[in-house]
Amino acid sequence: MIDWAQLPFAYKQTNKNTRCVFRNNEWEDVQICTDETINLHMAASCLHYGQECFEGLKAFRGKDSKIRIFRWQENLKRMNRSAKRLSMPEIPTHVFEKALITLVKENQEFVPPYGTGASLYVRPLLIGTSAQLGLNPADEYLLVLFCSPVGPYFKTGVKPVKVIIERDTDRAAPLGTGNVKVGGNYAPALATTQKIQELGYSSALYLDPKEKKYLDECGPANFFGIIQNTYVTPESASILNSITNMSLQDIAIQLGMKVEKRKVLLEELAHFEETAQCGTAAVITPIYEIYDPLTNIRYTYGNSEKTGDVCMKLYTTLVRIQYGDVPDTFGWNTIV
Ligand SMILES: *Cc1c(COP(=O)(O)O)cnc(C)c1O
Repeated sequence: MIDWAQLPFAYKQTNKNTRCVFRNNEWEDVQICTDETINLHMAASCLHYGQECFEGLKAFRGKDSKIRIFRWQENLKRMNRSAKRLSMPEIPTHVFEKALITLVKENQEFVPPYGTGASLYVRPLLIGTSAQLGLNPADEYLLVLFCSPVGPYFKTGVKPVKVIIERDTDRAAPLGTGNVKVGGNYAPALATTQKIQELGYSSALYLDPKEKKYLDECGPANFFGIIQNTYVTPESASILNSITNMSLQDIAIQLGMKVEKRKVLLEELAHFEETAQCGTAAVITPIYEIYDPLTNIRYTYGNSEKTGDVCMKLYTTLVRIQYGDVPDTFGWNTIV
């Protein structure tokens, strides 16, 4: 028996995964698979030259027991942008849709019950698999979709955290791959993440890699700030555009707020009333302190115990749509 209320955000084995092979210039049929491992050639291009991209999305069980998948079409669009950037073949909609819907249906009993705060996290993965020694794209690829029931990122719900401005490393180069979801952006940030977590911070806030004047994003989540009924989020060529962030912008407008997606100067941190990180895993994680080690300034927003009113309202509205508690007026959910 699974203790749904105590689920961590971690991998948990389910019944099946789905896979699709790209070979001879075409996508073959979607396969249902019970094996958790992948048999891979040691010269596969994903291992040596980083031909790898991934996605993350969630399915939710509503009060009506129905399963809703949130905005998967956006994840597919983004995965295809990532694939293209790494010279990998794009995934046709019918292939992705079949792999996703089949996956969720085959693992229905792992979609957590309504009211537990948990959900089913889906991880699509695309890798170059053919043997490649010269620096060329692979000619064979594997798409794998697996899932894992996960608990809320923070057990206590929305709990404010501290972040630190990272100046010693960049998560992406100015015209690099920061705007696509590729593993290559993550391994180089692991040491930084470890370092700052040892100092008691939940994540690093990166600055634009070119001028170090503007805000970029937090490791695996986008950043936004609230000021005078306005939702402000950075625009930058090295940010991965978060689907959660896109959704929150639409919700903010619906709630009568203004939205600004633009370059945000570091100094503006002093003016925000609330700040937060957002992403599929963490939904909204409010930030109560941002520390800049260079200037020794601590920007603070409320305290560690209480989430700001605007963040709370955005959070509640988004989650209610995802669980089907309110009408899906944006048309974001796919009911399985
Ligand atoms: C996945 C990811 C996010 C969050 O995007 P969502 O679509 O909201 O899950 C933010 N930043 C980075 C670098 C990411 O990889």
